[in-house]
Amino acid sequence: MEFTYDAYKNMIQLLRKHGYAFCDYWNYEEYDKSVIMRHDVDQDLEKALEFSDIERELGISATYYVLMTSNFYNVFSGKNREILKKICENGHAIGLHFDETQYRKTNKDWWKEAIDNEITLLEQCVGREVTSVSMHRISKETLAADWKIRDGKVINSYAKEFIEKHKYISDSRRSWKEDVIELIRREQYNRFHMLVHPFWYDPNEKSAKEVLRSFCREQIYHCYDELSRNTRDLSELLEKSELSFLGE
Ligand SMILES: [Zn+2]
Repeated sequence: MEFTYDAYKNMIQLLRKHGYAFCDYWNYEEYDKSVIMRHDVDQDLEKALEFSDIERELGISATYYVLMTSNFYNVFSGKNREILKKICENGHAIGLHFDETQYRKTNKDWWKEAIDNEITLLEQCVGREVTSVSMHRISKETLAADWKIRDGKVINSYAKEFIEKHKYISDSRRSWKEDVIELIRREQYNRFHMLVHPFWYDPNEKSAKEVLRSFCREQIYHCYDELSRNTRDLSELLEKSELSFLGE
């Protein structure tokens, strides 16, 4: 499958054609054949918003997991709060993407307070209840521990229920480990749990290198624009055109 918006749309239509209902972590048991669509936002909230527009057009909803500890984006900035609001208005849920590497593990229950605090902050940020959590680059230990978040009141998307009782497939590192289209066509599984990273998708097919290069380039220009907002007469010190170390 290509990493284009059209290819994604076709995959969604194929799921529909084969009778899979688009569900969330709470209601999938109401359907015989279900798909839970999950998006982890590791780098780029703007890309996530673009993806959420496409899904609104397709008439499906998903859960977008955002980091509270990212060095790429700050969910509390005015611009990003607006993005999260629009993703919600597109009919999607916002979940917490939790990065365990950001914390010092002091005892076996170290994560309880950390996740609890991040959920509270995210709820303040989006003005909605946050009912699920996905782990960023989950460790083997955490996967095995099968955390019950807030005593089970909040979904852990890596709970055995969603990994072992679903066909879990992901495009992590821009690679489907299996032929996802073939899996849908074969209808061998009644329950899919899909992790799709909007970051890798584009109107036109791009290689991983191209996606990463243009992301890095945009980040540098964002950085310049932010400096410019916060530095009087920045161009007297550094012109935007002088960012020639980009090698273009
Ligand atoms: Zn992640």
